[in-house]
Amino acid sequence: MIDSARVVDVVVVGAGPSGSSAALSLVREGMSVIMVGNGRRASWAGETLPPGAGDVMAGVFGASILNKHQRAYAVNAAWESSQLHETDAMSHPLGAGWLLDRLVFDADVEQVACAAGVRFVHGQATLVKGSGRRWSIAAGSHHIEANWLVDATGRPAHMARRLGSRVLRSGRMLAYVCRMDADGSGVAATSLEATSEGWWYTTPLPRGGRVAGYITDVDLGHQSGSLTGWWLDRLAETEHIRGLVDCSAEMTVTTSDAGTGYLNRCAGQGWVAVGDAAAHFDPLSSQGLLTGVLMGARVAQAIAHNKLEDWQVDYEMIVAEHDMLRSHYYSLVDRWADSTFWSRRSIELRKVVS
Ligand SMILES: Cc1cc2nc3c(=O)[nH]c(=O)nc-3n(C[C@H](O)[C@H](O)[C@H](O)COP(=O)(O)OP(=O)(O)OC[C@H]3O[C@@H](n4cnc5c(N)ncnc54)[C@H](O)[C@@H]3O)c2cc1C
Repeated sequence: MIDSARVVDVVVVGAGPSGSSAALSLVREGMSVIMVGNGRRASWAGETLPPGAGDVMAGVFGASILNKHQRAYAVNAAWESSQLHETDAMSHPLGAGWLLDRLVFDADVEQVACAAGVRFVHGQATLVKGSGRRWSIAAGSHHIEANWLVDATGRPAHMARRLGSRVLRSGRMLAYVCRMDADGSGVAATSLEATSEGWWYTTPLPRGGRVAGYITDVDLGHQSGSLTGWWLDRLAETEHIRGLVDCSAEMTVTTSDAGTGYLNRCAGQGWVAVGDAAAHFDPLSSQGLLTGVLMGARVAQAIAHNKLEDWQVDYEMIVAEHDMLRSHYYSLVDRWADSTFWSRRSIELRKVVS
């Protein structure tokens, strides 16, 4: 049986960090908000926040939001050369970054939003109808009507695509990620390493254990046979990362989209996309969470003060800046003249594929 319609100012679809930030900021602007979450969490637990992100998270979600997480005092990278270079937080003007327990973080930001007055509805949201002034959303047995629709559904951008936006993708990359319960290394820093056809990262987890991931192009990735065996073969090609990863226990490698993509239209009449739904970044940047949370807060102001055109200008700037940084970091690697992955990075052009 469908509940009678609940009518609010804004419905936010997706209860990840960006959706929670948008919903919380909208309530602070005095608007009534329902946030719809389907209970699915990101499958990778190891995430890092860059220096400076702690202040932003505290500003949006409260001073204690990172209390259960760990400071990251260094980033070690074998990028331009095979030598490991350490960037110490002491030499960074914004100080240390953070190692996040992602499941805990996502649950906590949702809880902060709800405690501030966001109404939470559990279910997989579908857009029943809507054009401009009144949206109608179904989620489980609930029926929600709202003047504004915020798409915070992550990379799939379910709502924006349903409304005719397309994702402009730059390359097709996959991440092959494995989470291990043990961390024998004792190295409390994120480590990066470029290899001939992709790159690796590994991060210790705040509650113990470690996550390690290999990023490469879809066609250069795993094609057949044992995925774990293939992943371990790629790991063996590293000089540094393999020494940090404890492969003694049983391992499960999961695959996720790691490409860069932007919506050709991130807003329209009565709707707007935030976070990964609006723009998903290369994991190399470690900027996804910070940018998504900032977007949520910024979009709330734009909605409350009817300034959506300002948000579109900001969005173009965010995307352009990310493109510039991404090109810069990939252009630093010129160690493999015959590599398909690295030669593609240098000539990559953004193209529409969906
Ligand atoms: C391999 C990899 C490593 C990364 N590492 C980092 C890192 O170190 N640091 C960093 O900052 N970022 C990192 N990122 C990016 C980061 O994970 C994302 O930017 C971040 O999760 C975006 O948050 P979000 O709230 O926009 O989307 P999501 O976290 O994807 O949340 C969207 C939520 O909406 C839900 N949803 C979707 N559709 C519906 C629907 N129809 N109805 C209801 N709910 C729905 C989803 O289930 C999900 O819970 C990484 C990404 C990858 C792929």
